[in-house]
Amino acid sequence: MSHVSISHLWKVYPSHHDGDAVIALKDVSFDIDEHEFVCVLGPSGCGKSTLLRIVAGLESADYGHASTHGRPSVVFQEHGIFPWKNVEDNISYPLALRHAPRSERKAVVDRLVKMVGLSGFERFHPDQLSGGMKQRVSVARALADNGAILLMDEPFGALDEQTRVTLQQELLTIWEETRKSVLFITHSVDESLILADRIIVMSGRPGHILKDIRVPFQ
Ligand code: ADP
Ligand code: MG
Repeated sequence: MSHVSISHLWKVYPSHHDGDAVIALKDVSFDIDEHEFVCVLGPSGCGKSTLLRIVAGLESADYGHASTHGRPSVVFQEHGIFPWKNVEDNISYPLALRHAPRSERKAVVDRLVKMVGLSGFERFHPDQLSGGMKQRVSVARALADNGAILLMDEPFGALDEQTRVTLQQELLTIWEETRKSVLFITHSVDESLILADRIIVMSGRPGHILKDIRVPFQ
């Protein structure tokens, strides 16, 4: 069963000046199956974030449609966490939104803090954390939200090499435990090869699909 279905998506941004309009997405179609880890790989400006926002329901397409079978949880490219909330309140925010009981919040935070390697930092605020730790908080919060589909927009793009490799391995471990369907956006060929079952390669502007590659031996 397809968990994400993307069919003939077009998105055009009108120009703000007298220049040409930007065709951000040109006839983009692909599906993601249940439990599949799909990377969308493409250069900066090719429409990857636009695609993710449309799948997340945060932006509308001009033509075509995207649907998800089950609710998506999103990890944004940056600024994903609240600076005024500590680690445990950031992670449990999706549960607070739906007024989950305190005991449930605590259980989920305890489990996720361990899962993403932030034990001992529960009371720290984002300005006391490294970039890698903040991204761990973002990932943990998306897992606390517990949608059937994880949408991740270059979550490790701004990190140093060593931290990125560590978080990639941790994400794979978490994925093996949870088996969520994942749409992971990246501009790194290496990252897509490490993580994905399938790689959708996009071209530069106008953004469209060049290749849909199944990665062997994952
Ligand atoms: P990527 O995530 O691959 O770097 P984006 O989806 O952010 O690409 O952007 C694709 C293109 O659409 C870029 O040329 C960008 O300038 C343009 N764009 C994105 N969002 C907007 C917007 N809200 N208004 C106008 N142009 C936009
Ligand atoms: Mg982007």
